[in-house]
Amino acid sequence: MLKSTLRFAAGAVAAAVFAGMACGGASAHEVDLKRLPVGDDYVTDSGARVGWAWACRVDPTAGGAYKQGPWFNGDGTYDLTAKAIVPGNVSWNPKFAIEKRGSDRVFSTNDLPNHGTGVYPVDRNSEAYKYDRNPNSIEEQSISFTLPAEPKIGQPKCLPGAVGILLSGTVLFSPLDEPGRDAVAWETQDKCQGHPQRTGVYHYHSVSTCVDTETQSDGHSALVGYAIDGFGIFGRKDVGGEALSSSDLDECHGHTHEVDWDGRRVEMYHYHATWDFPYTLGCLRGDYDRSMGRLLGGG
Ligand SMILES: [Zn+2]
Ligand SMILES: [Zn+2]
Repeated sequence: MLKSTLRFAAGAVAAAVFAGMACGGASAHEVDLKRLPVGDDYVTDSGARVGWAWACRVDPTAGGAYKQGPWFNGDGTYDLTAKAIVPGNVSWNPKFAIEKRGSDRVFSTNDLPNHGTGVYPVDRNSEAYKYDRNPNSIEEQSISFTLPAEPKIGQPKCLPGAVGILLSGTVLFSPLDEPGRDAVAWETQDKCQGHPQRTGVYHYHSVSTCVDTETQSDGHSALVGYAIDGFGIFGRKDVGGEALSSSDLDECHGHTHEVDWDGRRVEMYHYHATWDFPYTLGCLRGDYDRSMGRLLGGG
């Protein structure tokens, strides 16, 4: 457990130092992973704003982590590199397929990731258990859905509980826990930042560092998944390799420029992962089917 904690911390710190250096000091790109703003105060149910998450619904009475971990700095920030990590390295048998059929992109997955996971339910003797007693087990799912292969930009829309799927075959939830707080700051996850919800659906609340590992030839992060409106989600780096922060992106956490898309270079809208809240999407740029949130286990 200690070993995997240290490994993640070292990688995260290196990324922060890199982000700062690449931008020459204080700039919009600079993100201090030891002092990330807790997103709780940047959640709204009434419209999109840069750096905020626009949730369709939050339930303040729902369960979640019951206690702030010592990684909260006490001043509205938290230290990502100091978070307790759910221990373990369990292997799974993923079944994941994406197929482009005309104007559709067709997905099927059992939601089991192509990387190791922590042991769930969380070991009672682990550090993580002290703050978030996730009692759920990871269960195989049977999920099939279709997204538009060439999505169109529309009016921003609110985030349901599940917002996409990553190329690990695992679903991506909104950045919020059930009571509507910053899930990355509050909850504990495993070394690939995943954990199961109550029906056993393994999911992330940020783009897993086990998935965000590749870059395009221009230094821009590679595609890491798809949002439920069909737009691509890319990793943390802009063209040239600098890490982006939420203030570099629009209110839905994306921007438009040329990227690799279905084997071609295409100028199009896409979302980005960032180290800072809301981590993945702030709202949805395209149309989506309201039933998708439930289909993917996110309510
Ligand atoms: Zn969760
Ligand atoms: Zn980009």
